[in-house]
Amino acid sequence: MVIAVPKEILPGEKRVAIVPDVASKLIKKGFQINVETNAGLGASFTDKDYEAAGAKIFSNVEELYNSADIVLKVQRPVEHPELNKHEIDLIKKDTLLIALVYILHYPEIAKQCAEKGVNLISMDAVPRTTLAQKMDALSSQANIAGYKSVLIAANELGKIFPLMMTAAGTIQPARVVIMGAGVAGLQALGTAKRLGAIVEVSDIRPAVKEEVESLGGRFIEVETDEDMQDEGGYAKEASEEFLKKQKELIFKHVSNADIVITTALVPGKKAPILVTEEMIKNMKPGSVVLDMAVEFGGNCEISERGETVTKHDVIIIGEDNLPGLVPVNSSSVYAKNIQALLEHISKEGVVELSLEDEIVKGALITHNGEVIQERTISVLQ
Ligand code: NAD
Repeated sequence: MVIAVPKEILPGEKRVAIVPDVASKLIKKGFQINVETNAGLGASFTDKDYEAAGAKIFSNVEELYNSADIVLKVQRPVEHPELNKHEIDLIKKDTLLIALVYILHYPEIAKQCAEKGVNLISMDAVPRTTLAQKMDALSSQANIAGYKSVLIAANELGKIFPLMMTAAGTIQPARVVIMGAGVAGLQALGTAKRLGAIVEVSDIRPAVKEEVESLGGRFIEVETDEDMQDEGGYAKEASEEFLKKQKELIFKHVSNADIVITTALVPGKKAPILVTEEMIKNMKPGSVVLDMAVEFGGNCEISERGETVTKHDVIIIGEDNLPGLVPVNSSSVYAKNIQALLEHISKEGVVELSLEDEIVKGALITHNGEVIQERTISVLQ
């Protein structure tokens, strides 16, 4: 089968779905790979690198899409700025599109794909099982996002992180508060600790307390009788009462913090508001808040998507594509996730979608002109 890898067109997106090393592995498995001119350049991979791996370079985007049985992308399909066509309209009927769509947040893309007869696999819908661990793009990208969030916030802060005892006096360590101890939050914790900060972490799943402490963080625990975790290990949507209690508890931690990094998400729901304007008014001037959930509604009441703003003398970072700021590594791990998925669903370079397979069942959103994934259907209703 022929795989097409277009250049990402969402503004600021530098990642690419397949890197040369993975291209050469997929070619050995029997696929043919066509790559748009300069598709990998933002992530430091040249057309020559792809050619050396055995891929063909296409300068004409429409020809590239026409050549494909499978289209691999990082971002959700969007309107093509030069062709004045939506990317979905460039894809032939019956083609398999694989992308990190965050489908529950962009369910209209499922509808568009179904109408066009495009079969869509959304990488964020791959079940988080042991078997599918290698295909877990949510984790591979969140890990890098967590790391980068600390560096960006540290850069904005007018202080250093570690305790320093010098002849000119002692510098106190920075205090970092992290909200949400999933993959991104735990990586942010590890990174901030390595830089020497004192780190406190809050999560609604008490199960993560041990992980936080083993990484050297202090856990801010909200006491509750509510069961905050579903059977998949994900956070449930917290009740109003819980969120109120949590806000009261974290108020003083946030007020004392130099940096607050928020990563709290509830799958398929708007992100919970955890840092209110009132809290920000109580932070020290020059403190930094980085809202990693900004794309999905934000954990901070006054963050602005895609912007860094100063409000009440606090710097509030609303960067909505942190993995995209580390495109070399993010692309490499994402490409590995895709490689693992393709190897799972194909034989000798031919994809066969079995609806009985638990990974396909979870991640295949549209098939033969219909939206088939249950969670997407329920969001669309
Ligand atoms: P996520 O990005 O969905 O959410 C980030 C964190 O925010 C979670 O820890 C969540 O509990 C927390 N959160 C939600 N509401 C909150 C609130 N009001 N206050 C504070 N925190 C709040 O999470 P994720 O990184 O995708 O991980 C989610 C789960 O999936 C975890 O249990 C993780 O261990 C699991 N996981 C499993 C696998 C696997 O088995 N392959 C891989 C990765 C993650």
